Amino acid sequence: MVILVHIMLMIGTLGTGKTMLAQRLPTILPPLTAAESLETTRIYSAMGRLEPNQPLLSTRPFRPPHHTISDAGMVGGGSTPSPGEISLAHNGVLFLDELPEFNRKSLEVLRQPLEEGRVTISRALNSTTFPANFVLVASMNPCPCGYLGDARHACKCNPPQIERYMSRISGPLLDRIDLHIEVPAVPFQELSAAADGTSSAVMRAQVHRARQAQRARFGADNHRLNNRLTTRQLRKYCALDAEGRTLLQTAMDELGLSARAHDRILRVARTIADLEGAAHLQPAHVMEAIGYRSLDRKLWAR
Ligand SMILES: [Zn+2]
Repeated sequence: MVILVHIMLMIGTLGTGKTMLAQRLPTILPPLTAAESLETTRIYSAMGRLEPNQPLLSTRPFRPPHHTISDAGMVGGGSTPSPGEISLAHNGVLFLDELPEFNRKSLEVLRQPLEEGRVTISRALNSTTFPANFVLVASMNPCPCGYLGDARHACKCNPPQIERYMSRISGPLLDRIDLHIEVPAVPFQELSAAADGTSSAVMRAQVHRARQAQRARFGADNHRLNNRLTTRQLRKYCALDAEGRTLLQTAMDELGLSARAHDRILRVARTIADLEGAAHLQPAHVMEAIGYRSLDRKLWAR
């Protein structure tokens, strides 16, 4: 359940239920606190998006903007700035289906909000700041036709087409994504009953514990979750023993990982340790976190 505090990209062939999995995420996150409910309700209220008999939002929002969305629609804008999708997703989930179809620029504008948990829209005379603290979940097919690696359908793409498709999300964007999850081509019913039989209630309890550990670490600054640990904080909270250091160094060398990917692995390992209630990072946490960088391996292998 490390996914719920990090940026996740799901890769799977057509029909693997990536969207349905993403839609379930808000129900696994801890319930909205009163303060979070008020913050998110205020945004919906300002935009006239509340149902007539709905005084407060009681569930975490799930926003799946289409890939044709404008920058203003995504982050907010207009002559009198109004909030965009990322603020409607505040305290909830922003889902970008078919990530490679999104225009690079509309992904670039997510950078500041992802780092700060808010977005500032500057105008000549003043600037407006909206809250935008969301979990980013994206999905993509393994190739343009969607069937690469699917035993039941033949892929119609040639290697240059696949390369072009993958290159749309490579580099800096990919570096910013913590987790690459390959969604297997199995029926959704099988997937939704988690592999180890973990129920939603158990997952929610684990996520709650991980978030509590993070709050204790960062004090009142609740927006500072593990996915935003600074380099200095990484050294403080993600210290590795000799075995862990060797493991990570070997992975870096063999997979050709960037310095950014190195830091991502540490942040994810920290969350895995939090989910287990472990105070110190152990080699097993690092190992699991390395496993979530599958796309780095694929891109590098090409
Ligand atoms: Zn294909």
